[in-house]
Amino acid sequence: MHYTPPVFRPAFEENTPLLQVTDGCSYNKCSFCSMYRSVPFRVSPMEEVEADLYELRNSVRFLPRLFLVNGDPFVLSTEKLAQIVERVIYYFPECETISCFCHLPNLYRKSVEDLKYLRSLGFNQINIGIESAVDSVLDMFHKGYHVDEVYEQCGKLNEAGMEFSMNIIMGALGNGEYHELAAANAKLLNTVKPYLFFTTSLYSLPGSELYEILERQDFQDNTYGQLIAEEIEMLSALKLEHTYYYGLHPSNPIPFDGMLPEDQGKIIGILKQMLTIFPEALLNKPPERGHEGGVLLPDNWQEL
Ligand code: SF4
Repeated sequence: MHYTPPVFRPAFEENTPLLQVTDGCSYNKCSFCSMYRSVPFRVSPMEEVEADLYELRNSVRFLPRLFLVNGDPFVLSTEKLAQIVERVIYYFPECETISCFCHLPNLYRKSVEDLKYLRSLGFNQINIGIESAVDSVLDMFHKGYHVDEVYEQCGKLNEAGMEFSMNIIMGALGNGEYHELAAANAKLLNTVKPYLFFTTSLYSLPGSELYEILERQDFQDNTYGQLIAEEIEMLSALKLEHTYYYGLHPSNPIPFDGMLPEDQGKIIGILKQMLTIFPEALLNKPPERGHEGGVLLPDNWQEL
């Protein structure tokens, strides 16, 4: 298989076979992300894609789902994506879901009709790194778009019936603030209704642009207690009908996942209990900057 390292995929796609259709990321400017900094963007020639599909067919007996890599394959034109999907389905007629990462501006050049067309071919899910529903946070992350564009583009996806997942970064306002963030993120989720959303907590690696920004701004990272409180506020405000919450990222204070609304009350209840169980010294402390900051759950947390 042709893979140009590094290759990333969402944690919840860990069992999904990967097909490389691009190298690197066409945008490559997000301040927290250095994943593809040293990798020039390149579109895989169709001969490479074809050879990989042939190899995959010889090693995988049944392939219901395929994830295209790397950073933002949805930047490819509708025609190019359709050409790739056609080859995928040729080799894997059983494939029900084709998905990939998408940087929100990848959607600007795709009409609702384009999205419907791709969906009809089998390209029916995308994963968007939205990060936040607050403009100042999006600016700090150098995402290249604002919240009104998120609503507009996700509206197009919903109109086309294209499923999407998205992520939210908690603690991104820092300085002890989180009410505005929790409310704005919940409002966005309630409106655009992803089939899945996942959370991470703000972390920045030394050497990343974001790390420098936070150091320059004298930004105070939110504490474990504030991160948990933000998660409680956001989850409490959600009115979703059928969405999977994937909160298992190691940067989150407490890892949880579950279906919303079925598991919503249980998750919120346990988070609230953690605020009473964890020692105050821990709750008042921010995760160490530059490290993913999960804390250990008590052994008996499932019985709580
Ligand atoms: S669009 Fe995604 S892969 Fe590209 S720089 Fe931003 S976070 Fe990284």
